Amino acid sequence: MRFNFDDESVQDVGVRFPKLDLKKDEVARVCAITPYFDVTIRHWVDRVGYVHCHGLKSAKSFADLVDMEKNPKVEECVMCAMSLRQDTKDMVNLPMRHAATYVLRYHTDTRGNLLHGQLGYHLEVWLLSNKKYKEIISLQKEWGGLQHYDLELTCVDNKYKNFDIGLKKEALWEKSDKEIQKKIIAYVKEEIEKYPLTVCLGEDIPEEMLKRRFEVIRRKNYPDEDVDLGVSSMGSEELSDSIVPQTTVPQDDPFKLTDTGGEIPSAVTEEEKAKAQEPEKGSSLDDLIPD
Ligand SMILES: [Zn+2]
Repeated sequence: MRFNFDDESVQDVGVRFPKLDLKKDEVARVCAITPYFDVTIRHWVDRVGYVHCHGLKSAKSFADLVDMEKNPKVEECVMCAMSLRQDTKDMVNLPMRHAATYVLRYHTDTRGNLLHGQLGYHLEVWLLSNKKYKEIISLQKEWGGLQHYDLELTCVDNKYKNFDIGLKKEALWEKSDKEIQKKIIAYVKEEIEKYPLTVCLGEDIPEEMLKRRFEVIRRKNYPDEDVDLGVSSMGSEELSDSIVPQTTVPQDDPFKLTDTGGEIPSAVTEEEKAKAQEPEKGSSLDDLIPD
């Protein structure tokens, strides 16, 4: 395809991965086949996308992550600092918690019925708002290993990607014969290597590179301002007023995403904390392989 050099649609739109997505009223049948999820604290950065908070380096527990939302790490993270400043808060959003897990999605019609009665499937990444992973955790608590049950997801709100979750008392992949089950597990292992959850949740961008990107954005938005364009001179200086806009950036940004989950954080139970730490202990699928 051909594009003009100044075509605004030519943007780095971030990492491509098979993201679980449904249209309004569409029903999907999936299995949360890996018994873990990843949680991050991330910032939405104008014209960059989601970036992992630099304060994550010192986070040791789920409680630390919850605290980072309430008390942004302004000393450790330039984005946290910018998100609190009047003149830059439209450029960098406040730190927000977000989670992701993998699901085996069966090939179904829009009502969740298997196509031609055949077991077709592929792996997708489910980006979970805080509310949704709490629902998953309570289902896990009630039923035990969710890899042994399918979930029926019904999209009730397309804009905010809000899915109603129903539990099926069987997992279709486990009803297939042992050879097919082994094939499915091998496939899942291969796919999750390609799409690490942390990469799906946001980018890791070092502070220096971020500052350079902010400078590029600033120059794009305020081309007539007389400023120092020497990027190299920015070195390890603190982010000064000279390299960030003094006024807010345009609101009609076509690159702004809407599916941030956006729930207000609430208190976390001890169980949730324990569950959330599970991924660090082990993410092996070996225990899923049938004997
Ligand atoms: Zn931060």
